[in-house]
Amino acid sequence: KEELNIIQGALELRVKTVESVLTQLKDCYMVSSDAVLDFNTMSEMMQSGYTRIPVYEGEKSNIVDLLYVKDLAFVDPDDCTPLKTISKFYNHPLHFVFIDTKLDAMLEEFKKGKSHLAIVQRVNNEGEGDPFYEVMGIVTLEDVIEEIIKSE
Ligand code: ATP
Ligand code: ATP
Repeated sequence: KEELNIIQGALELRVKTVESVLTQLKDCYMVSSDAVLDFNTMSEMMQSGYTRIPVYEGEKSNIVDLLYVKDLAFVDPDDCTPLKTISKFYNHPLHFVFIDTKLDAMLEEFKKGKSHLAIVQRVNNEGEGDPFYEVMGIVTLEDVIEEIIKSE
């Protein structure tokens, strides 16, 4: 029974897309690029429980960096270090994927890449103006694995 579910989950990776597993932008825990790493900000980030925290500039859809909670290990909250100093130092690469990426392709990307988090975007051509890339959320390896092993 469980094995069948897993096989079925694996087969469905070929038809399902990132859209069905992503974490929506509004649910993403992020920090502003002009945050200061004082005691409050650092404890909030650690208490979020997330390992990877997208950094945005201005609005949440404008993700410019990624911070790992472990990057905070050598930061002294008393120094009130600007977050930018740390994110520039570690400079983790950002990976973007389109929302219609199939989950099997996404899994391959995660296996190849170093990061297990990607930023999901779509082409927005709804308005009058030129089409633009719109960030819809994030997807992690965990989201894809979950889709394989979930029992329904
Ligand atoms: P890890 O398990 O590698 O320590 P994690 O627990 O921070 O990382 P994942 O296991 O990759 O996160 O993902 C668990 C779920 O949380 C997934 O649904 C993922 O989309 C979501 N997620 C990951 N990072 C964030 C974040 N910063 N804000 C909101 N949701 C997130
Ligand atoms: P245009 O000139 O066509 O408007 P642009 O130069 O403004 O494009 P880019 O800067 O190339 O657009 O891309 C915007 C964002 O989309 C970047 O973060 C980039 O990494 C991402 N991106 C571009 N092309 C792809 C792609 N094929 N797959 C995934 N992400 C992409």
